[in-house]
Amino acid sequence: MDDLCEHCQFNLGYIVDHIKEININNINDPMFTLNHDNFQYLCLECHNKKTFGTPKEKIREGFSFNELGELVYSPPIK
Ligand SMILES: [Zn+2]
Repeated sequence: MDDLCEHCQFNLGYIVDHIKEININNINDPMFTLNHDNFQYLCLECHNKKTFGTPKEKIREGFSFNELGELVYSPPIK
């Protein structure tokens, strides 16, 4: 089946994402981690946007995302 990304409804879904981030306080709580209301099916692009910020936006000095949503190291040009 072709499940589209629940966010952009355009790309095919790539990853099941937790809407609310899992953290140290809820990782052992099945009511949270296995709660389907907290799942969304995202394409890679939307997942990266949600998790790392907008692609091509510099997330920290020297690192950025390319058009494939991959983290790349690009040293600042001096
Ligand atoms: Zn998407």
